[in-house]
Amino acid sequence: MDLKSLVRNIPDFPKPGIQFRDITTLLRDPQGLRHTLDTLHQKCIEEGFAPDYVVGMESRGFLFAPALAYQLGAGFVPVRKPGKLPAEVHSIEYDLEYGSDRLEVHQDAFEKGARILIVDDLIATGGTAKATAELIQQMGAEVVGFAFIIELKDLGARSLLPDVPIVTLIEY
Ligand code: AMP
Repeated sequence: MDLKSLVRNIPDFPKPGIQFRDITTLLRDPQGLRHTLDTLHQKCIEEGFAPDYVVGMESRGFLFAPALAYQLGAGFVPVRKPGKLPAEVHSIEYDLEYGSDRLEVHQDAFEKGARILIVDDLIATGGTAKATAELIQQMGAEVVGFAFIIELKDLGARSLLPDVPIVTLIEY
């Protein structure tokens, strides 16, 4: 199945020069949605991922991470933008093209040594995934892999990430 044909390109969104890869058109297609989740699951099994928790980053990571966690028999943990999580949090600052941002996770989200699979819809520069991995490692948990629906290959994000397997379905 040609998943790439279900991703819609929106030029110059959210700002000039960006080709926005819109996955809402993939999600709304019944066969596309099923094939995406089944293939992602299959590839994670082939890599031998057996995570205790699947972590999804706000907000589009939330669209895939809980379903994958369900398929893998793992729990789901959200990593959120500042001020959204109600209990005590650990946080990490990371650089954006202009300025910086922060990600947060509940302090009691992981046991020490827990195995974590990090999931997002798309990896571009890798800044978000790198910061999430560092946050998890600082908490004493282990990042065992990454899974993304889409990878923007030319941005070279892989070199920023820990040396663990990375699963992707669609490349640009
Ligand atoms: P990055 O930290 O640069 O790897 O950016 C990853 C995050 O930004 C993901 O959560 C994506 O949802 C979003 N993102 C970055 N670039 C794009 C793009 N061209 N199209 C859609 N989403 C994007």
